[in-house]
Amino acid sequence: MDFESLSADLRSLQARALEEISAAVDPGALDALQIQYLGKKGDLTAVLRGIGALPADDRPRVGAIANEVGEAVKGALATRGTELRSQVQTIRLAAEKVDVTLPGRPVARGALHPIPETIEAIAEVFGQFGFVIHEGPEVEDDLTNFQMLNIAPDHPARDLWDTLYVDIPGYLLRTHTSPGQIRVMQSTRPPIRALLPGRCFRYEAVDASHGSEFFQVEGLMVDEGTSMADLKGLLDEFAHALFGPRKTRFRPGYYPFTEPSVAFDVECVVCGGVGCPACSKSGWMTILGAGMVHPVVLQYGGIDPERYQGFAFGMGVERIANLRHAVPDLRYYLENDLRFLEQFR
Ligand SMILES: [Zn+2]
Repeated sequence: MDFESLSADLRSLQARALEEISAAVDPGALDALQIQYLGKKGDLTAVLRGIGALPADDRPRVGAIANEVGEAVKGALATRGTELRSQVQTIRLAAEKVDVTLPGRPVARGALHPIPETIEAIAEVFGQFGFVIHEGPEVEDDLTNFQMLNIAPDHPARDLWDTLYVDIPGYLLRTHTSPGQIRVMQSTRPPIRALLPGRCFRYEAVDASHGSEFFQVEGLMVDEGTSMADLKGLLDEFAHALFGPRKTRFRPGYYPFTEPSVAFDVECVVCGGVGCPACSKSGWMTILGAGMVHPVVLQYGGIDPERYQGFAFGMGVERIANLRHAVPDLRYYLENDLRFLEQFR
């Protein structure tokens, strides 16, 4: 072995390595080439074993060439590695490309159910007059649901409310939102302007206009000098906001917890007052019941009836929703039939 042949071996090793490196197609192949040429048992080490047989003067010269070869191979590995990594990136970007010109997928939009939507419409009108929403429990006690509303246990008016009782003695599913009046009066001081929307329950045979589960909105105002005129003015504003400019009227009514009590009618929204089947040919439609809060009820609420007066009103939400949307049967509201609900989108 002499200097010439050893250095020729090194140069041909370099040429072979650079060619194979530039032909490598993936990072794994490069790793294998690095081990093959530069590893401890690699080709470069194998060539350098011959260095011991050389004259001492030639050894550093061969060492210098070997270093050059090693550096050239390392440099080629690094360059090719960078190329391959950028190719992989380019391929991945192409595969994951998003076509921003494609039309988007439509977002499925829901809508409020007509009952909460109607409650919102009612609350919006009364909200303009300072009425604030309060909520009461659906499982109510007998005392608050009946007795404090001036309906004694043997009162014939209890027949008006066919009650669903629960297993706890003295408790029931509230038959109306009126017990909320007691709860508001007991927890706040006048002036009171409260709106009480909620679900109510009665033991009823279900038909187009009766449900065992239904919604009411109750209103209560208590202040010094509150009068029937305030009530009439407020309800007129409400009727006009929901049903447009129509005639309204009070008729005598009866509730144990208001005195006097009235039914509030608006001109028929179907025939405009001429008379049609929807209004039983009367030209009027009753939309709610109301009256001045009975002094006994004020006292149960902890309010002095000598100083304060109040009025209350209550309406069935289904009734109002029927009139707004011309729905003929309140059973639709609880059937969860999309063909019905989608009409309110
Ligand atoms: Zn009519």
